Amino acid sequence: MSDIWVLAEARDGELKRVTYELIGAARALDAEAAVTVVLLGSGLAGMAEAAGAHGADRVLALDDPRLAAYSPDGWASALAEQARAATPDVILAPATFRGRDLAPRLAAKLGVGLASDVTELGRSDGAVTALRPIYAGKALARVRVAGKPAILTVRPNSFPAADTAGAGRLETVVPGELTALAVSSGIEAAASERPDVAEADIIVSGGRGMGGPEHFAMLEELADLLRAAVGASRAVVDAGWRPHGDQVGQTGKTVSPSLYIACGISGAVQHLAGMKTSKVIVAINKDSEAPIFGLADYGIVGDVFDVVPALIDALRARGGS
Ligand SMILES: Cc1cc2nc3c(=O)[nH]c(=O)nc-3n(C[C@H](O)[C@H](O)[C@H](O)COP(=O)(O)OP(=O)(O)OC[C@H]3O[C@@H](n4cnc5c(N)ncnc54)[C@H](O)[C@@H]3O)c2cc1C
Repeated sequence: MSDIWVLAEARDGELKRVTYELIGAARALDAEAAVTVVLLGSGLAGMAEAAGAHGADRVLALDDPRLAAYSPDGWASALAEQARAATPDVILAPATFRGRDLAPRLAAKLGVGLASDVTELGRSDGAVTALRPIYAGKALARVRVAGKPAILTVRPNSFPAADTAGAGRLETVVPGELTALAVSSGIEAAASERPDVAEADIIVSGGRGMGGPEHFAMLEELADLLRAAVGASRAVVDAGWRPHGDQVGQTGKTVSPSLYIACGISGAVQHLAGMKTSKVIVAINKDSEAPIFGLADYGIVGDVFDVVPALIDALRARGGS
C-alpha cells in the first residue's frame, strides 16, 4: 500500500475543489493508498474536517502562526522537514499559481524528480508515470518520475473529486526552525461573484471578435445562465477589455473545464495551449477557416451577435436562472 500526500489548496479558511480532485487522483493512482492531505497555515481544524469528509485517511496539519501567510521558502522547508521524516511515496500538488511555486522548491530541497502540470497518472515497473502537455500543448509527453517521493503538480479539472469520506485522522505538528525570507502580504480577490476561470467547470470565453468590452455583457449573461466563468484571449486582455486574471492561454491560465465555449476567438496556438484539454469545446466564429474549428467538438459558423443571444434565449426557454 502506497503512502500518497496531497498538498491542499485553500483560500479564506476553505479548501478548494482541486484538493478533492487530488484525493481522487491519488485514489486513481492507487485505490488502496493511504491518502494524507497536508494543510499548512494557522487554525486549520475546520479544513481538516472537510478533508476527511472528502476522502482523506489522514490529515497532517502544519499548524503554526509562522505559516499563516504563504511563504515559498518557509512552506517548502516546513514540508521538506515532514517529508524527510515520513518518506511518502508520492506527493501531489495542484497546478495552481501556489502549487507551481511550491512543488519545485520542495522537489529541490528533497533532491527528487518533479513532473508539472500533469493530466493523467499511472504506474510502470513500480515508478509513477504521468502524461503532460509540452510545446504549448502541441504534444503530450509520457514521463516517469524518479525518486521517492515522486512529486507531481496536477492540472485542475483533470480528475473527478473524491466523493467518499475517509477516516480523516488529524495529526497536528509544529515545524522546527523556519526560514521565511519571502512572505506573501495578501491576496486581492477579483470583484466578481462568478467562478474563477482556473476552477470553473464551464467557461464562456471571448476574443477580439466580440468587438469591444461592452459586448462582454452578453457573455456574462450566458455565463450566469450556465453558472460559468468568463474567460478571454490575450488580444482582449491586451486591449484592456478584460482583466488579466481572465486570460486563458500560454501566458494566462491553463484550464480543463467540462465545457469551453470560444466566442470570436481565432484559435492561435498560444490560446489553444491553455484550453485544449477541455472536455468539450464549442467554437463560434464567422470565419469557417478559423483554426479554432480544427480543435472544436462543435463549431458554429456565425456571427457572435446572432448566435450568443440565440443561445441565451434557448437557455432561458429551458428554464435557466
Ligand atoms: C509569446 C506569446 C504568448 C501569447 N499568449 C497568449 C495567451 O496566453 N492567450 C491568448 O489568447 N493569446 C496569446 N497570445 C496571442 C495569440 O498569438 C493571438 O494573438 C491571440 O490569441 C488572438 O486573440 P483572438 O483570437 O481574440 O483575436 P484574433 O486572432 O484577432 O481573432 C478574432 C476572431 O474573431 C472572429 N470574429 C470577428 N468578428 C466576429 C463576429 N462578429 N462573430 C464571430 N466571430 C468573429 C474572427 O474571424 C477571428 O477568428 C500570445 C502570443 C505570443 C507571441
